[in-house]
Amino acid sequence: MSPEPPFDAGKLALPHLRGLSAYAPGLQPSGPGWVKLNTNECPYPPSPRVAVAVLREVGEDGASLRLYPNPSSRPLREAIAAHHGLDAGNVCVGNGSDDILNLLVRVFCSGTSAAGFTLPSYSLYPVLVGIQDGRGVAIEFDRSMRLPLEEILSSAANVFFLTSPNAPTGVGFRTADIEAVLRGFRGVLVVDEAYAPFAGDDAARLVAGHPNLVVTRTFSKAYALAGMRVGYALASRDVIGLLDRVRDSYNVNRISQAAALAALGDADYYRGVIARIKATRDDFVRHCAEGRGWFTYPSEANFVFTEPRDARGRSGIEVAGAAATFLEARKILVRRFPSHALTDSFLRISVGTDEEMLVLNQALEAWVHHS
Ligand code: PMP
Repeated sequence: MSPEPPFDAGKLALPHLRGLSAYAPGLQPSGPGWVKLNTNECPYPPSPRVAVAVLREVGEDGASLRLYPNPSSRPLREAIAAHHGLDAGNVCVGNGSDDILNLLVRVFCSGTSAAGFTLPSYSLYPVLVGIQDGRGVAIEFDRSMRLPLEEILSSAANVFFLTSPNAPTGVGFRTADIEAVLRGFRGVLVVDEAYAPFAGDDAARLVAGHPNLVVTRTFSKAYALAGMRVGYALASRDVIGLLDRVRDSYNVNRISQAAALAALGDADYYRGVIARIKATRDDFVRHCAEGRGWFTYPSEANFVFTEPRDARGRSGIEVAGAAATFLEARKILVRRFPSHALTDSFLRISVGTDEEMLVLNQALEAWVHHS
C-alpha cells in the first residue's frame, strides 16, 4: 500500500490565491539606531493628549479591555464628520485606511466588475484585487506624472483608485482635475488621500455634492498614529452603508478609537507638526533638485521621490540600488520601487526630523564621493 500523501493546504486553497504574492511592507527594523525614512511615518510623536487618552482607556487594571469596543466607532465617526463638515452617516472608520480600501474592493470589484488604478501608485490595490479574484485595469502615467484623464474615463472600471498626492511620487492632483474625473466617470471614484494633509488641495470637500466619490484618509501619517491602525472613508450614506455591511463588526479596537479621538481634538498641535514636515520637505526637495541637480518630483506629501546621480552623473536602477545599499549600511532606510520603469531609478525618502535629514544629507554626500 502506498503511503498517504502529506496534507497539502495549498492544493485546497482557491486556485487564484496559489500564485498570489502578499503586499510587501517596508522594513520595520527591531534594533535601535536606525534613521527610518522608508515607510512615511511621522517623525514626531502624536499629540500629548493621545497618551493620556490611551492610559485613561486602559485604566488602572485594564478592566475596560474585557469589553468589546464601540462596534461602529460611533464617537469617532461623529468627530471625523464634524471635522469635515459632514454627517456621521458619511463616515466609515477602519483598521487603517488599508481596511477601508479592502472593503471597497470587496464591495465594488469582481471578475466582471473591474477595479482601476494608476501605475505607479499604491501597490496594495492590485494585491487586494488579486485576493478578490477581481479584474484589475492599470492606467500608466508617463514621466510627467500628469493625470491620464482620458484613459481613466475610458477605463470602464466599476471602481477607480486614484491616489492624491500620489505614491510614491508625491505629485498631487488639483481639485479641478478630480472634478473632471467625477463628471465623466460612471463608476465609483476613490481618492486615496493618505497624504492630503501635506498637500495644497483635497477632495474631501467634494464628498457632499458627489455620490460617486469616496475619499479615504488615515491617522497613520499626519496624526502620527501608524501603530494604532485607524483610517476612514468619507462618502455618501449609500456607499457607507455598503462598507458597513461587509466590514468586521468590531473592526477598530477601543484603544485605537480613543487615540484617534484625542488626536482629532488637538488641531493646533498637528498644524505645527504638518507645517514643520512641509518646511523640511521643501528644503530637501531644493537640496536634491537644485543643490545636487537630481531629477526630483515636486512633493505634496511627507516624502520625496528623487533620482540619484553618482559622481559621474549617471542615474538608473543600479545607481539607485547602490545608493540605497550605501545608506542601509549606515543604518539609514529609504524605499525603492524597482519593479516599474518609471520608478526603478528613484529613491523614496520619507521626511524625517531636522537631525535625521542632516545625517541623511551627509550620507548622500559621502555616497556621491564614494561612487
Ligand atoms: N494609501 C496610501 C497611498 C499609502 O501609502 C498608505 C500607507 N502605506 C495607505 C493608504 C495605508 O495607510 P494606513 O493603512 O496606515 O491607514
